[in-house]
Amino acid sequence: MIKKKQLQKKIARERIEILFNEAQKASRKNINLSRRYVELARKISTKYKVRIKKEYKKLFCKGCSSYFVSGKTLRSRIKNKRLIQYCYKCGRVTRYPLSAQTKKKSGI
Ligand SMILES: [Zn+2]
Repeated sequence: MIKKKQLQKKIARERIEILFNEAQKASRKNINLSRRYVELARKISTKYKVRIKKEYKKLFCKGCSSYFVSGKTLRSRIKNKRLIQYCYKCGRVTRYPLSAQTKKKSGI
């Protein structure tokens, strides 16, 4: 039998996924709407203590919850094997090491 909390977390994870899908769809037309979806997803994540997937984390700004659209809300660069994301809205800079990808390429 599934415990209530586990079920809640499962639902929360699914909802986060749906919200990011919607944010992606809305990003073409309405950036503000996308941000609303990201905000909701983040709220669910804190409320139910579920983590937002790694691949989703790179899609929005941790400062202002803006959904990243290259050229619109985001400027991304690769420098010294790091991915640098610059948010146009709040100016937050996030750096990600590219080690995971380098490892794949070199076959480790
Ligand atoms: Zn921002």
